Amino acid sequence: MSGTVRRPPLPGVLEPAGRTIGAEEREAVLRVLDSAVLCSTFGGETRALEAEMEALYGRSAVACSSGTAALHLAVAAVRFEPGDEVITTPISDFGTVAPILAQNGVPVFADVDPTTGNLDPVAVEAAITPRTRAIIAVHLFGAPADIVALRAIADRHDLLLIEDCAQAWLGTTAEGELLGRFGDIACFSLQQYKHITAGDGGLAITADPELADRMRLFMDKGWDRAKGRVHLTLGLNCRMTELIAAVARCQLEKVADVVGRRRARAEQLVAALADLQALGLPAVAGHAWWLFPLIVPGDNRRWAQALAAEGIPAMAGYLDRPLYANPVFAGAPVYGTSRYPLDRDYNAGLCPNAERLIQHTLLVLPWNEAYTKVDVDEIAQALRKVHAGA
Ligand SMILES: *Cc1c(COP(=O)(O)O)cnc(C)c1O
Repeated sequence: MSGTVRRPPLPGVLEPAGRTIGAEEREAVLRVLDSAVLCSTFGGETRALEAEMEALYGRSAVACSSGTAALHLAVAAVRFEPGDEVITTPISDFGTVAPILAQNGVPVFADVDPTTGNLDPVAVEAAITPRTRAIIAVHLFGAPADIVALRAIADRHDLLLIEDCAQAWLGTTAEGELLGRFGDIACFSLQQYKHITAGDGGLAITADPELADRMRLFMDKGWDRAKGRVHLTLGLNCRMTELIAAVARCQLEKVADVVGRRRARAEQLVAALADLQALGLPAVAGHAWWLFPLIVPGDNRRWAQALAAEGIPAMAGYLDRPLYANPVFAGAPVYGTSRYPLDRDYNAGLCPNAERLIQHTLLVLPWNEAYTKVDVDEIAQALRKVHAGA
């Protein structure tokens, strides 16, 4: 395609212009360095971050080293038996499923809604067996999963519900209820690409004091430090450091503004494309806009190439393959030479809606709070041009 390449490039998450890291974070890091206490066991930053997360979400918070670690705390807190099953989505970061395997559980993949990529509650309920113990729902790209229906299913079958909110900071349902308050546990990430970042880092929240205790123990070697040098359960070291917590506290103060600006620009783009009948546009209600997803006619890879020629970055399919098509599920050993705990094959065709989204229909645009109205006008123009040629 022979378009004029757009200049300058849009701000992205690997440069200062596309992140909200400034004087506050710099001051916070120096404060911790000057204190010489960098470990959260002995400092106050991480505990203060947890208190601030608690104030934001109205749930107890446990800080840890990554979003994957937060999900690991959550899955460990379910305390299922080896070989038990956890139902989740095939379209997510690998961090959603790695903790299930690490706790010797079997991930069971339910298919997704073909317009949003979020878990289809009907498919989730159909996947329940006597060994199912939990559901992990991901709010994909920041769009609310059907969390009310999933909560009802979990209650009906006596399962724990874990919300993966890594992409959905301050996302809500269409009715305006905060995501992260439906699950027994909800998990957040502070990785470089998320709404707010400390490079890496995670938070798990819960309203249940017992689950909070279990997660806190797993985060710190099963060690209840109030009781002396005693290890009550299996746990790892998933502690957040004080340097990370100090940065995360500054970022948490900015998250509402970040999400608000992403929403304003995303709603501008949705309005600018509303007349393009062939495009599937995301529902704006409650969306946190980690990325901007579209359902496109024709071939999503061709769309991504044509947009790149216009200077607009876009990813076809988000993933290269559904999670279950990765070697660790599709035949490679999990531990040593063993496939344990996996007791089944995960074949192509397992989740047809997810496969079709990834291979054919899903296009995602990077999204950023620093996009201007002019940036969004230009994104809309490029999409209209590619649409006209589709
Ligand atoms: C980023 C992400 C994770 C993992 O978080 P890390 O901090 O990278 O470990 C898990 N789930 C989803 C949906 C994510 O987007």
